[in-house]
Amino acid sequence: MAGLGAEKKIVVVIGGGVAGSLVAKSLQNNANIFLIDEKEYFEITWASLRSMVEPSFAKRSVISHSEYLSAVVNITDTDVLTKKGSQIPYDYLVVATDHTQNSASTKTEKISQY
Ligand SMILES: Cc1cc2nc3c(=O)[nH]c(=O)nc-3n(C[C@H](O)[C@H](O)[C@H](O)COP(=O)(O)OP(=O)(O)OC[C@H]3O[C@@H](n4cnc5c(N)ncnc54)[C@H](O)[C@@H]3O)c2cc1C
Repeated sequence: MAGLGAEKKIVVVIGGGVAGSLVAKSLQNNANIFLIDEKEYFEITWASLRSMVEPSFAKRSVISHSEYLSAVVNITDTDVLTKKGSQIPYDYLVVATDHTQNSASTKTEKISQY
């Protein structure tokens, strides 16, 4: 991250969807990134219509992200708190949680919906 000094900053990104994943990938070589999501997978949403008529396609459009931690339940000026009890300090915070949705929390559950 140009102009921020030699020491890498800590960036916490809440939401590993389209926006959060792109932010994390873009900054991964320049900052210490914590990417947090309540689901264990990333879904390519524009492939979901095809998965409805061809369920096996969901195995390619629902992608595991095993490094995702938990749901974020609180944010302070300095830290985020996850449902599992982790407290993660940040220098910068990105909130990319989109809208509330009733979705599956595991990849297996999501694929079975198709
Ligand atoms: C069927 C369908 C087809 C679409 N087709 C297109 C298309 O063709 N082109 C296009 O541009 N857009 C399309 N979209 C829209 C596109 O998917 C959204 O605009 C995009 O996903 C929004 O990105 P986002 O990162 O803001 O949110 P999301 O991708 O929804 O990501 C938000 C993430 O935040 C996580 N999250 C939420 N709350 C918390 C919390 N408290 N703690 C931790 N994690 C949390 C969620 O689990 C989720 O993974 C489509 C959407 C759908 C449903």
